[in-house]
Amino acid sequence: MTLNRRTFLAASVAPLLATMPAASAQRAARRPCVISSGNGARAIARAMELIQGGADPLEAAVKGVAIVEDDPEDMSVGYGGLPNEHGVVQLDASVMHGPTHTAGAVAALENIRNPAQVALEVLRRTDHVLLVGAGALAFARTVGFTEQNLLTERAREAWLRWKANLNPHDDWLDRDQQIDVPRTDGTIHVSAVNAAGDLGACTTTSGLSYKLAGRVGDSPLVGAGMFVDNEVGSAGSTGRGEAVIQSAGSFAVVRAMADGLEPTEACLRVLTWIADHTKRRDLLNGKGEPNFQVVMYALRKDGAWGSAGLRKGGTFTVHDGTKVRKKECPSLF
Ligand code: ASP
Repeated sequence: MTLNRRTFLAASVAPLLATMPAASAQRAARRPCVISSGNGARAIARAMELIQGGADPLEAAVKGVAIVEDDPEDMSVGYGGLPNEHGVVQLDASVMHGPTHTAGAVAALENIRNPAQVALEVLRRTDHVLLVGAGALAFARTVGFTEQNLLTERAREAWLRWKANLNPHDDWLDRDQQIDVPRTDGTIHVSAVNAAGDLGACTTTSGLSYKLAGRVGDSPLVGAGMFVDNEVGSAGSTGRGEAVIQSAGSFAVVRAMADGLEPTEACLRVLTWIADHTKRRDLLNGKGEPNFQVVMYALRKDGAWGSAGLRKGGTFTVHDGTKVRKKECPSLF
């Protein structure tokens, strides 16, 4: 079974790469360049403006994603993000600075709408990389962030509908409704390179909607949700964090670029590895393919970019100094 799937995947990737417009587009590498997940159009426009004005690429990425973190309409990030199973919004974020090869991150952070900014302060002000839960909140307060309730009315109602339809044997009274509960496959990732070839990256999220309290996804884990090697490039991910953690996804994409793969090929190589190592039956469809989504984003030091998804429907945005373009990702399945 595994052997068959591996053989199938190896056979399926080569023709896919040959027909991909992204593969040829990425050859015309330009710097500066900023790439993000599909929900990042405003973030990369802002980040590019800042980079062109001389800002550090990481600072620009963090200021860019703040626009999405602050937006109550984006239910996958920051303020307005979907809560955990108890109705509490817990945010994860990480940042990495290429020139100094330093990282900062926070996980399961409550009440602070801009976790990427807190992650940047962890990088700047401490000798640590990752702060979690109450400790992350105490740190954020100490360095001047203010607390607020992050659960918007819209997100609270979505959570209540989810809760009311969770278990047919409990005492909630909402059983007959056909529900369409919002779930996030959101998260925002931004990778940026400036004209000099210095890189920065940032990933920020409210994580899996209705997750177990305390669950930490890939986004705040360096090497999973994002990774930068200033000699090579930067990568990030969105989608099922558990799969990305168990593949060290972003680290693997950057290593694949170091091995000489084009950014899109590097993403596809790691997604193929994820597909090949997905063994649990509940995570596979009838054809033996993973039934979940992961999208990887890659930016090489020279400004070449790429992205790919495990399944169809993934999108990304890219700004090469001329304009923001939103694109569909090539996918394995
Ligand atoms: N990767 C995020 C997580 O697992 C969620 C997502 O991107 O949908 O927390």
